[in-house]
Amino acid sequence: LSDRLTAALQTLTRKGKLSDADIDATAREIRIALLEADVALGVVKTFIARIKERAKGAEVSQALNPAQQVIKIVNEELVGILGGETRRLSLAKTPPTVIMLAGLQGAGKTTLAGKLALWLKKQGHAPMLVACDLQRPNAVTQLQVVGERAGVTVFAPHPGATATGASAQPGNGVGDPVDVARRAIAEAKHAQHDVVVVDTAGRLGVDEELMKQAADIRDAVEPDEVLFVVDAMIGQDAVTTAEAFRDGVGFTGVVLTKLDGDARGGAALSVREVTGQPILFASNGEKLEDFDTFHPDRMASRILGMGDVLTLIEHAEQAFDQQQAEKAAEKLSSGQLTLEDFLEQMLAVRKMGPIGNLLGMLPGAGQMKDQLAQVDDKHLDRLQAIIRGMTPAERADPKMINGSRRLRIANGSGVTVREVNDLVNRFFEARKMMAQMAGRFGFGGGGGSKS
Ligand code: GDP
Ligand code: MG
Repeated sequence: LSDRLTAALQTLTRKGKLSDADIDATAREIRIALLEADVALGVVKTFIARIKERAKGAEVSQALNPAQQVIKIVNEELVGILGGETRRLSLAKTPPTVIMLAGLQGAGKTTLAGKLALWLKKQGHAPMLVACDLQRPNAVTQLQVVGERAGVTVFAPHPGATATGASAQPGNGVGDPVDVARRAIAEAKHAQHDVVVVDTAGRLGVDEELMKQAADIRDAVEPDEVLFVVDAMIGQDAVTTAEAFRDGVGFTGVVLTKLDGDARGGAALSVREVTGQPILFASNGEKLEDFDTFHPDRMASRILGMGDVLTLIEHAEQAFDQQQAEKAAEKLSSGQLTLEDFLEQMLAVRKMGPIGNLLGMLPGAGQMKDQLAQVDDKHLDRLQAIIRGMTPAERADPKMINGSRRLRIANGSGVTVREVNDLVNRFFEARKMMAQMAGRFGFGGGGGSKS
């Protein structure tokens, strides 16, 4: 804890703007984190440039050290880019709302169709799924299976139906996806389904024929949303794939899938930066329930890979009271710290959460597990009780706490006299040590001669 205190107090002497050196040092770390998260290189470059610009103008925070402050700026910027608030699905004024899914084969479109159907159903909609992937032999069956699991209607060409119409694709023998899409919309109106989710075919790579088919389906169903479904594991390729779908079909929103894997989600930032389209949903598993609206804050923290540091920053800011800390620093350097200040400081630190958790968030704390286990909140409760059992005069001038006062305090706060002795003695030691430390770090004006 004394390291923390030292670090916190050191920041008190800093004034003015963040320095270039501070910014550059942290920007390097951030750059590595983003590349490790598979954010496309070009996107990393523009992002870092923007961060540096913004950090330059920032006043030095009293609550955070410079590195923490830059990380905070980065995080805010990331959350902003990723969407700020989550955008909701836009529903048609006159039903049915048509949602078309597009993306590479294996991205998770068919699975998503089932997830969306269940999610919509739970919100009181009556969705219908449409099987427009007639490329793969078992694609229709797969959609029927997820539809059944979600308990919704699936519109599919009859098995064994023959190709109809001039635009029928020879070779697949099950029909024309554009025709299926058109008939499905008519059926949805008839059967009063208010949302239609159109599943389409994908290829392993971007492919002209596939784009043409998707564009034709789009023209036939006039979707309210075209969702580009992208596997979060795709990494650097996210940019080219997203650009191809943007130019070939166009889309109004993005769904990230397979977030249950170990991908750090850099694709989210790349796709968003390059296409400007919002990310609406996140898919995180094979089950229909593994699905949620997209949370920019969670994704930002995942991309940065500094979730614990971010939590610590948040807590430190909440608990920090600048004036109180300055006052304490001044008293500390002059050796006038009282038990009242001690209690206040303890309460401020404890506002941040259980003390073990707090220390556990510090980088490298993993190796200190045993010691952390000994920093017991119950023990702190007792210390607080003892200080609360003292009179204001005793807290202000602990030297007056003699034997009979110690007995009274012990009885009043339900502890032994020995515990009171311990606290008082340790307080005097700590006060002496802090005054020396304060002298060494050069705050509190000219106190350097105390050591
Ligand atoms: P499509 O070709 O775009 O329709 O992709 P599918 O929906 O058929 O999904 C391809 C594979 O990825 C299947 O094995 C799915 O079970 C799996 N899958 C889809 N979404 C997720 C996800 O969010 N997490 C995981 N782990 N697997 C998924
Ligand atoms: Mg599919």
